[in-house]
Amino acid sequence: MLLFCPSCGNILTAEEGTECYRFLCDTCPYNYNIKRRLSSRMYPKQKEVDDVLGGAAAWENVDTTNEACPKCAHAKAYFMQIQTRSADEPMTTFYKCVQCAHRWKE
Ligand SMILES: [Zn+2]
Ligand SMILES: [Zn+2]
Repeated sequence: MLLFCPSCGNILTAEEGTECYRFLCDTCPYNYNIKRRLSSRMYPKQKEVDDVLGGAAAWENVDTTNEACPKCAHAKAYFMQIQTRSADEPMTTFYKCVQCAHRWKE
């Protein structure tokens, strides 16, 4: 990731801090912090994905498919596809059992 100083146009030096990335200009006092939180939002952790899927509203108006539940062996499950990582990676398919509400992903 290359950033240029908005005041003098030099390439900024990147420093990795504990809570953020710092971009510093070598020739002028300009510096710029990027919070790490930004990148973790782009790549949600599994728990955050679960939280998103945990809300009842998330499973409204979703289709069902013939997918056997690994827990109760019921043959039908709700399913939805979500892009959990970068756009060039395949979608992840999440299932929720119609009968016992067990959730799993492909
Ligand atoms: Zn500068
Ligand atoms: Zn089930």
